[in-house]
Amino acid sequence: MDDCLFCRIIRGEIPSTKVYEDENCFAFRDIQPQAPTHILVVPKEHIPSVAELTAENSAAAARCLEAVAVIAKEEGLTGGYRVISNVGEDAGQSVKHLHFHILGGRRLEHLC
Ligand code: AMP
Ligand code: ZN
Repeated sequence: MDDCLFCRIIRGEIPSTKVYEDENCFAFRDIQPQAPTHILVVPKEHIPSVAELTAENSAAAARCLEAVAVIAKEEGLTGGYRVISNVGEDAGQSVKHLHFHILGGRRLEHLC
């Protein structure tokens, strides 16, 4: 995906504050943090959102959730944290490349 923002960040064409990278996943700090720790974990494979996950590509999402667990430990989020993936317009998804927000470092309002 030539013009996808997160694909460009993964390729290093747009700068980011990288916190983690492995064969399948890339993670960097959100540019507009909503909590003291706000990190985005994205698969290197371009998948638009959770809505496009299938048996063929869902391992990419699972690898990202494994990375979430590693990163949360590294960041010292011992009190807990939230993992969010916005899907589509009603959820306010602004970047159409699957990503998991990690939010932590403060008490988070309970949503559901
Ligand atoms: P969403 O609204 O769930 O699609 O989340 C997209 C997130 O990407 C937002 O929280 C933005 O602040 C974040 N974002 C947008 N551009 C960048 C960027 N260049 N570097 C880091 N985070 C970004
Ligand atoms: Zn992409």
